[in-house]
Amino acid sequence: MSKEFEIIEQVFRRRVRPRQNVPLGIGDDAAITRLPEGCELVTATDALVAGTHFPDDALARSVGHRCLAVNLSDIAAMGGEPLWASLALGLPSFDRDWLDDFAKGFFALADKAGVTLIGGDTVRGNLFASLTLQGVVPLGQAVRRSGANAGDLIYVTGYPGDAAAGRLLLADDLAAVGTSGSADTLRDADMLAEKFSYPVPRLAAGLDLRGLATAMIDISDGLNVDLGRLLEASGVGAKLDIAAIPLSVSLRQLVARQRAIELALCGGEDYELCFTIPPDKVDTLQARAEEWDCALTCLGTVVAGPGLAWTLAGKPFAVPESGFEHFK
Ligand code: ADP
Ligand code: MG
Repeated sequence: MSKEFEIIEQVFRRRVRPRQNVPLGIGDDAAITRLPEGCELVTATDALVAGTHFPDDALARSVGHRCLAVNLSDIAAMGGEPLWASLALGLPSFDRDWLDDFAKGFFALADKAGVTLIGGDTVRGNLFASLTLQGVVPLGQAVRRSGANAGDLIYVTGYPGDAAAGRLLLADDLAAVGTSGSADTLRDADMLAEKFSYPVPRLAAGLDLRGLATAMIDISDGLNVDLGRLLEASGVGAKLDIAAIPLSVSLRQLVARQRAIELALCGGEDYELCFTIPPDKVDTLQARAEEWDCALTCLGTVVAGPGLAWTLAGKPFAVPESGFEHFK
């Protein structure tokens, strides 16, 4: 058995659950999938490259989880239901243990999310995992970035800043996190590292926000930058309150308030949803959000003029740094 065949058959194909909407999955030249009637496809691709998005020695299970989670987050941010994934994998060498751990992380999340792996490509080279994920939405009902209106309220799910702190903690960059790393903060540090290694995409929230949110984005590059993108796409601005930003207990235990706010605004790696909603829909929102397994917080209001205006105790607040950028 060739190594490539072993990878495709034993590591991946063996773990795939058969599904009705996939008449032909892994094994032929291409896969065949069946789109439910009245639906259109939403497609996202996100690549994780060793050295750029994760350290070479990152846990394989985490890489497997994250390459799917980051794409699930994009599909969730469109209000989509994820269905089919195609995986391009670059491997420096054949390491069956690494591959099995990668697959464990990947399929645990895929099975939870109802996603089928339908194909991919396996090449020798630098370590990377690039995933294309397809989902469906009823015709015309995807939530775009461009629909926010003046007067809408701006919400965010979860606790931004946690994942960025976790990433720095995993890199042992205590100075960058801004903590002394004393023993009683260890449990909080583990919690934050977990948030980075195993992000939970907000799929239920994304689906519930269809027909409710006027615009939506996931904040993987940082709350400030990504909200800015949503506002720009919508041709509006916003007034926001720094004091409203939800900070997790673990993050607050570990770093000073000012640093926690910086991480929440600019840290990135948070696979949370940021969206806008008309004020008369807030009751419906709150009723639906009771079923979500995450915090939900109002940060401010959409205004007609351009730009993001953050204030703290009534005074303008200058955001310290920009979000994650690949090409500086
Ligand atoms: P081809 O030479 O036609 O591109 P491959 O030998 O690369 O085919 O792949 C054979 C089958 O295995 C195809 O169905 C392909 O989609 C699937 N496949 C290859 N690599 C992966 C992977 N990493 N994960 C899932 N499916 C894969
Ligand atoms: Mg072929």
